[in-house]
Amino acid sequence: MSGLPWSSHSVILREAVFEGYLVADSPLRIGVGREAPLGSAAHLAVLRIKLNGKLVPYIPGSSLKGFFRSTAILLANQKGLTVCSGLSKQTCMDQEYHESCRVKKLLEKIQEEMKNGNVANAIRLFHERACLLCKVFGAPSFRGHAEFIDSYPVNEDGDVQDVPVGVRTGIAINRRTGAVDQLYQVEYVESGARFRFSIGTTNLPNYALGLLAKVMRMLNDGWVRIGGFKTRGFGEVRVEGLHFTASGPTVQGTKLLAVDEKDSELDLAGRVSSTLRELEASGDKAWEVLAELEGVWDRVEFKP
Ligand SMILES: [Zn+2]
Repeated sequence: MSGLPWSSHSVILREAVFEGYLVADSPLRIGVGREAPLGSAAHLAVLRIKLNGKLVPYIPGSSLKGFFRSTAILLANQKGLTVCSGLSKQTCMDQEYHESCRVKKLLEKIQEEMKNGNVANAIRLFHERACLLCKVFGAPSFRGHAEFIDSYPVNEDGDVQDVPVGVRTGIAINRRTGAVDQLYQVEYVESGARFRFSIGTTNLPNYALGLLAKVMRMLNDGWVRIGGFKTRGFGEVRVEGLHFTASGPTVQGTKLLAVDEKDSELDLAGRVSSTLRELEASGDKAWEVLAELEGVWDRVEFKP
């Protein structure tokens, strides 16, 4: 191995992919704008994309990623792991970096190192100072190690499916007077809609895969919801046809080796089919693999 930390994109330790279908168990609201602020457009449409000539609702990768990151923040906090909010100007890249008597942002320091050709130093700085979630989901000037592609309503054969869309009338109340200010129409995807999802990861240690797995299970079990109007019962989503694959130098037969000193090795014998450098599992077996990964997350200890 090159000695580069796993957060470096110059080294390939492994690739792991979670894929399957997100199935709406309640109305689902993924749209432009959230809870209809007063004075907004009277009609809130769902996001649509043209696929094979059909205009259909979809779930943008950025929405799914935002959902995973915000849920992961809750899980990290429960473990006592300090992570940033990931919000603009509040990421780990925005933290102060003290150099002799000057204070700059970590991002500036890293960019300086890059400009001066000290790439290894820039990578080391990021790896040491950025939180786990910046490494997994990304930070300004840094591509994360989990990629969330757009989820489209396609079936197993790749055919675009019709997605039933409903409309509800919402009432905006004037906060000051308490009177009805305006009525607005909210479009949503009906329960039963299926969206094909794929989350591709590189170099993530078993505990970080376990963190993503935990978010997926919380979603599937109904502990967390996606999209808007959650307080009105929207956004319940279950995961169907789950498939997990992992490949690369840190995959050995049925084993997922440890990626860093905090990580622990997992032997998934009996749960996966494997070749020398690749393993995979589907359906219930894939959920068993996720449970094993979640166990690594539960056991990992982060030094304060
Ligand atoms: Zn961070």
